[in-house]
Parts: sequence; C-alpha cells; structure tokens
Amino acid sequence: MATPGRCAGLAPMNHAAHGQRIAVVTGAARGIGAAVARRLAGEGLAVAVIDLDEAGCAATVEAIIADGGRAMACTADVSDEAAVIVAVARITAALGPPTVLVNNAGIGPQADLVELATHQWHTVVGVNLNGPFFLTRAVAPYMIEAGWGRIVNVSSISAVGDADRVDYGSAKAGLIGFTKSLALQLGRHGITANAIAPGFVVSDMTRATARRLGRDFAEHQRLAARSIPVGRVGRPEDIAHTASYLVSAEAGFVSGQVVYVAGGPVD
Ligand code: NAP
Repeated sequence: MATPGRCAGLAPMNHAAHGQRIAVVTGAARGIGAAVARRLAGEGLAVAVIDLDEAGCAATVEAIIADGGRAMACTADVSDEAAVIVAVARITAALGPPTVLVNNAGIGPQADLVELATHQWHTVVGVNLNGPFFLTRAVAPYMIEAGWGRIVNVSSISAVGDADRVDYGSAKAGLIGFTKSLALQLGRHGITANAIAPGFVVSDMTRATARRLGRDFAEHQRLAARSIPVGRVGRPEDIAHTASYLVSAEAGFVSGQVVYVAGGPVD
C-alpha cells in the first residue's frame, strides 16, 4: 500500500543549477516505466521515480545509482491529487525543478461493458487520465519558469478501440486529446507534449492478460507476434528509446504527435 507522497531521496544534492535536467517518470517500479527511468538516467538526467510499489521504486533507483546515475524514489498513487502535489514538492526540494515528465503509470484490467462497475471505470480513468493531469499540472509551472519542457504521455494502441477494455481504451484516447491540447497551450513556453502509443510490450501487464486467457506467456507472445508486421513483440526498451528521443533537446520541433511503437501501422 502506498504511503501518500513518501519519498526517499537518495541523491539530495541539487544539481539543477549545474544544468542537469530533472525528470519525473511515473509507474517506474517495473516494466516500461523502469526502462524509461534507467534510459533517461543513463543519458545524464536526474530521475524521480514515482510508483505505488515502494520496493519496486527503490529497486529502480538502486539500479540507476549502481550505474552511476542520480535518482530518488517516491511512493505515490498518481490518481491521488494530494499525493501528487506532495510528491512533486518533495522531488523539487530534493533534486531541483523538474522539466521532463513521462506519464507512464497505467492499469488495464479486463472490462466487459455490461459488467463494468462504475468504480472500475473511475479507477481506470483515474490512473490513466486523471494521473497525467495531476502530474502535468504540478510540474508545468517549473517548465514554464524554465522556458523549456518535455512531456511524454504513454497511451496505447487501445486508444483506437479495445474490444476487451472499454474503460482503458477510452482513457488512453482521452490521454491523446490531453497531449494535443497541452502541445497547443504550452508550446509558446518551449514545452513539447507527445504521446507514445505502444502495441504489445512484454511486461507484467501483458503477463496478466496471458494468465487471464489461460495461456502460457511464451505462447501468448508467439501468437501476438504473428499479427505484428515486424514479427516480434515489443520490449520495454523499445518504448524507452522513443521516450529518450521525445525528451531530447533535438526533438523541440516535434509536438502534439502520437508515436505508435507497435511494430507496424495502427488504424
Ligand atoms: P506494468 O508492468 O503493469 O507496470 C505499471 C506500473 O505502474 C507498475 O509498477 C504499477 O505499480 C504502476 N502503477 C499502477 N497504478 C499506479 C498508480 N495509481 N500510481 C502509481 N503507479 C501506479 O505495465 P507496463 O506494461 O509497463 O505499462 C506501462 C504503461 O504502458 C501503462 O500506461 C500501460 O497502459 C501502457 N501500455 C502498455 C502496453 C503493454 O503491452 N505492456 C501496451 C500499451 C500501453 P503496482 O505494481 O504497484 O501496481
């Protein structure tokens, strides 16, 4: 269970004044978020790792520090507005003002429309859409002050429709609308906002889907790869690579875009 806004600063020295960019990556205890956090740290950013999972957060941070990077762990529920405000304040105090934000935390349980409970709808929208809003609203003032910022929202190919998860598909489509609106509103401050829409990526999320279908995970991946043009499923590093490009200084003219990282086109 997450302690709201509980943060363990493992690198308290403020390097922002020395030009080191500070990134916040949510859902970074494992899977795609952990790969993104490690990649950005490897490229010289100080990274604040936010997740529900305290031990997982600490593991990501330890891995970054072992590789010579700077990071801090922050346990918070991104769908909890107050916890997000506390977390961002603590990150800013410990590392410096963040100017890179990767909204990656997400959940996608099975959801048949007729049986979908209202509270599940709210939970899924809360994590996948409200969370990015709370984080972005808390971090944007630092980006505006810096006259520079990079926002990456991790959506999904489910944004174009998901037969099994109407709540998830709706939230991920909303996240794309949010991203484009941010790009329009914040562009004049030197801030870009883009969405990454992954296809099948090996993680606990796709492992859970395999379990639900009663399939062995290796078999599940083989079946998925058959309908992917490049003939393989994705890895967290595929998404990390794309995020790394989108947050780079060189990507400053790319904004309001959806990058499908799915091994082929998505309609
Ligand atoms: P994952 O392995 O399930 O990891 C998600 C992480 O987010 C977990 O560490 C989880 O913590 C954390 N999290 C969940 N709810 C949270 C909350 N309310 N506050 C803070 N952290 C929270 O998933 P993944 O596959 O890496 O997915 C990452 C993102 O990519 C998600 O937004 C997902 O929708 C998107 N995506 C994934 C795929 C795919 O094929 N894997 C495809 C398209 C899009 P706990 O472990 O404590 O719950």
